[in-house]
Amino acid sequence: MTGDVTIISGPTAVGKGTLVAGLRSRHPELFVSISATTRTPRPGEIDGVHYHFVDDAAFDKLIAEDGLLEWAQIHGCTRYGTPRAPVEQAVARGERVILEIDLRGARQVREKIPQAKLIFVVPPDMDALLDRLAARGTETPEQVECRLETARYELAHQDEFDHIVVNDDLGQATDELVRLIGL
Ligand code: 5GP
Repeated sequence: MTGDVTIISGPTAVGKGTLVAGLRSRHPELFVSISATTRTPRPGEIDGVHYHFVDDAAFDKLIAEDGLLEWAQIHGCTRYGTPRAPVEQAVARGERVILEIDLRGARQVREKIPQAKLIFVVPPDMDALLDRLAARGTETPEQVECRLETARYELAHQDEFDHIVVNDDLGQATDELVRLIGL
């Protein structure tokens, strides 16, 4: 598969969601993929907007039907995946596609779309990450620990990405993303 695909990854609570929202408001022409997940919605999250919230059986069906471009089990038992058809259709229309997915998903997409651009968003330091995660307050202590473990793993594999963006100042980080994506 070919296409203009950019993957934005980064540890938990680094602000990827806010960055992608900023990108989208500046460049509404971008196609931002909506993932399927078995996670329960956080307050304010809307099915079909932030994620497609599905149960395990529906996720199994998506896998069985080869309906996912990639998928991964993250933070223990929650599964997340990129629905294949909307991405293929956007690529066919010549649109620029943004995937906000984890490192294991990024590796799978790179196998299928070798020219995909991989961008890793990092916090200014680990304390900033802990502060943001605590401020969000949507996870149990076990979930926080699980997310931090994933974060440490991802931070240790930053060299697999083409570009690193430090999310210290939101405006500057968004500018940097715009430049890297070539908008
Ligand atoms: P959250 O539960 O905080 O929304 O997301 C947790 C993690 O799942 C984040 O690292 C996010 O990038 C990742 N993620 C979200 N959607 C997908 C997806 O479709 N595929 C993969 N592999 N990871 C995803």
